This record gives sequence, structure tokens and C-alpha cells, in this order.
Amino acid sequence: MTEQRVAVVGAGIAGLHCASILIENGIEVLIFDKETEVGGRMRTTNVDGFLLDQGFHVLQTAYPTASRVIDYKALRCKAFQPGALVIDSRKGKPKIRKMADPWRQPIRGIISAFNGFAGMADLLRIARLRRDILKGSIDSQFDGEDSTTMEWLHSRGFSESMIQRFFLPLFSGIFLESDLRTNERMFRFVFRMMSKGKMVLPTDGIGSVTAKMAEQIGEDKFRLGVRIGGIDEGAIRFRGEAHRFDAVVKAFSESDDDGPKRSVWTMYLDAAEAPFRSKHILLNGNLGEPSALIAHVAVPSNVQSSYAPKGRNLVAVTIVGDRAVSAGIENPSGIEAAAREELGQWFGDGTVSTWRTLDVNCVEHALPEIGEGIRLTNQPRQGESGATECGDYLLHGSVEGALLTAEKAAQEIIDKLKTPASGNQQPMRRF
Ligand SMILES: Cc1cc2nc3c(=O)[nH]c(=O)nc-3n(C[C@H](O)[C@H](O)[C@H](O)COP(=O)(O)OP(=O)(O)OC[C@H]3O[C@@H](n4cnc5c(N)ncnc54)[C@H](O)[C@@H]3O)c2cc1C
Repeated sequence: MTEQRVAVVGAGIAGLHCASILIENGIEVLIFDKETEVGGRMRTTNVDGFLLDQGFHVLQTAYPTASRVIDYKALRCKAFQPGALVIDSRKGKPKIRKMADPWRQPIRGIISAFNGFAGMADLLRIARLRRDILKGSIDSQFDGEDSTTMEWLHSRGFSESMIQRFFLPLFSGIFLESDLRTNERMFRFVFRMMSKGKMVLPTDGIGSVTAKMAEQIGEDKFRLGVRIGGIDEGAIRFRGEAHRFDAVVKAFSESDDDGPKRSVWTMYLDAAEAPFRSKHILLNGNLGEPSALIAHVAVPSNVQSSYAPKGRNLVAVTIVGDRAVSAGIENPSGIEAAAREELGQWFGDGTVSTWRTLDVNCVEHALPEIGEGIRLTNQPRQGESGATECGDYLLHGSVEGALLTAEKAAQEIIDKLKTPASGNQQPMRRF
């Protein structure tokens, strides 16, 4: 083991990307992960021919670093439709309405202005928001104030109905918190990415991104199922012993074990008939009401047929963790019962009862908390451990954030080890 020069602890997308850059620059790497599989939060499990991502997850083609690193074409990605469906089940028979993107689909956008919750004024505000957010560099979206997303949307003049029925369910499903307390800078960044690019799914699931990265790195470079107990600049501790390296990269956050968390429940169902056929996400237009639990429903197999066996449909139901906590639900069976009840109100109990539950899972630390006192920028922060660190927790909870921190960490190590190749760095590979 002593011949290995750099230990990367954590085989999520950040650790994998960092390790790849080091390898391409002629540095020996050994990658450790406490799990027996690589990928961290980007993993996919095959259950009876259904591809279950570890929580509903998409790739954003507009992320600049991600589009340099991830080869969407090779992964045979397919896109969701811009805009969203919104269900309103307040009175009588639930109604599903389409909220088109007024910029990319102007005619449909105007039609959706008469959809019962957004007026023409809201559509114009969306168009203006889009114009403003697309101006300037990405970094410029991280300038400005530190108000919450909710406060910021109000300051832009959106109607309460538009906020509650559209922005709240969409962004609580993205930020994984139900108050839209997330910093307005993160909202502008995500909105810009959604306006510029597409939300896509790879043919073989989200986990195929990290699986492909690991494959390129080579199986012999991994030590899986090994929890690292202590890290310093030149050593890691496991199984009671210290192992020395020329450098160590810590590619995970301590808050995986404690500290504040944004969690998410995902229930996956097998349906003979999809509840809707379009390639949209269905938002819960009633999420503003305290009794509502589900943030959104997607049918990944409408977008990528490989997500379900022939003739079947995969339904992904997302419940933000804080909603489950306020409803006093703590376990998979409680989530399943409550989510089925809400789905029954939307699609009919008879229909929903024919859907088979494939999985109900909770990702406890799904996204880092962008807490008070952190001035969100587009530059990775320094970790506090003293070792070189990477991971989304040092920037923002996204694939883009994780990759940017990985590139900074790799650069730090290359500079530190001053390898002969470091003066002539290799271009970064696409996976
Ligand atoms: C349900 C869900 C949906 C998401 N949707 C999106 C989305 O649509 N778009 C987007 O951009 N982002 C999304 N994200 C966020 C994105 O997945 C993360 O930002 C990204 O995967 C973080 O990668 P990472 O390498 O920083 O961390 P991780 O993937 O968490 O990797 C850390 C690794 O370190 C390992 N580890 C931890 N402690 C130890 C230890 N002591 N010893 C050894 N190994 C250890 C862990 O097992 C893990 O494999 C989503 C996340 C979730 C959970």
C-alpha cells in the first residue's frame, strides 16, 4: 500500500472526478468508500427490471463543468419537456394543468396563462425573470442579497397563487426543503440552468454516470466497504491502523454522520398504465396546504423507456423530508400509506391500488444545508479538516458543485506533489 501516493476517501462523483484528474496527471491513486458500491448519492439499483435511482434525480445539460465532464450523448440521455404539469385537488375532481415555458414555447405559454393559477402578469414576470437571469456570467447570479428564495420571489412581484402552486412544489423538490428558505442566489443559479438547458436521464440510470467514471479509473484502484475513521494531511486510519500517503483527499462531508440535513423520501411504483403520458414532472399545486405531503410525481419511463420493463411504467413519488417530519411519519410503511392516500385522491383509489410498490427509501443527507452565515458564491470553500477536501458541501448541492470542488482539490494536490506532469496537465476526460 505504501507505493500509492494519494488516497481519495469517498467514491461519490466528486471523489471519482478528482481521482480521474490525478490519474491523468500521472499520480497513483487509491479510492476508499465505506459502501460496497461506488457513486455515493448517484447510484441506481435494478429491481425486477426497473431502474431505481437513489431518489428522483436528473442531469442538467446547462451545467458548464458537468457538460465538459459527462458525455450526455454516450450515456444516451433523453430529456424531460420544459415546463410542468400542476395538479389541483382542492375542490371536486382534481385538475391537471400544463404550465408551459413561455420563452421556449410562447404559444403554449400564452395558453397556460389561462390555466387557473397563473395569470398573464405572472407569465410576463417569468419571461422577465428569465431574461434577467440569463444576462451576465454564472458568477453574477451569486452576487446580490442573501434573502430567502420565498422572499425573493415575492420581491419580483409573483402572485401568491403562482408561488404556492408552481414555485413552491417545483423548488421544494429541488432544494429538498418546504419553506423555500434556500438562499436566493441558489434559486437564480438553478433557474438559469433550467432556462438554458434540459433536464435529462441517462439510459442506464443516474448511477451509470459514476459507474462509467469508476470503470475508466479501473477496478484495482478501489477499496470498497472500508470506512475511514480519521484523516490528516498524510494519513488515513482504518481497521485500527494508520496508513500513510503522500497526500489525502477527503471527498465526503462529516455531516453525513451528524449535523443539519435535508432529507428526501422516494416511493417507486410499478404501474400498468402511466398516470400521465407526457414527459413532464407533475407538481403538487396544493403543497402550500399543511396536509399535503407529495412535492411531485414523475414517470421516468415516459422519458427513458429503459427505466421500466416493456409494458410497465415507473412512477417516482417525491416527499421532502421536513414534510414527513411535520406529519409525524418516520418509517417507510407510514410514507407508503400516506402517499398512497394522496395519490388515490389524485388518480383514484382503484387505480392506485393496482400499482405495486417497488421501493420506499429515504436519503438522510440528500443535500448540504446552505446555512446561515455561509455567503454562497460559485467558488468552492475551503474545508475545515486541514486535508484537501472536495464534495458538494463545499459549494452547493448539485452535480456541478461537486465537480467544481473536485477540480479545485485535484489542482491543489497536483501543485502540492509537483509531479513532472503537473507542468503539462492533461485535458480532462469526458465520461
Ligand atoms: C435524491 C437526490 C436527488 C438529487 N437530484 C439532483 C439533481 O437533479 N441535480 C443535481 O445537480 N444534483 C442533484 N442531487 C445532488 C447530487 O447528487 C450531489 O450533489 C452529488 O452527488 C454529491 O456528490 P459528492 O461526491 O459530493 O458526495 P457523495 O455522493 O455523498 O459522496 C460521498 C462518498 O463518501 C463516502 N463516505 C462518507 N464517509 C466515509 C468514510 N468515513 N469513509 C469512507 N467513505 C466515506 C460515501 O459513502 C459516499 O460514497 C441530488 C441528490 C439526491 C440525494
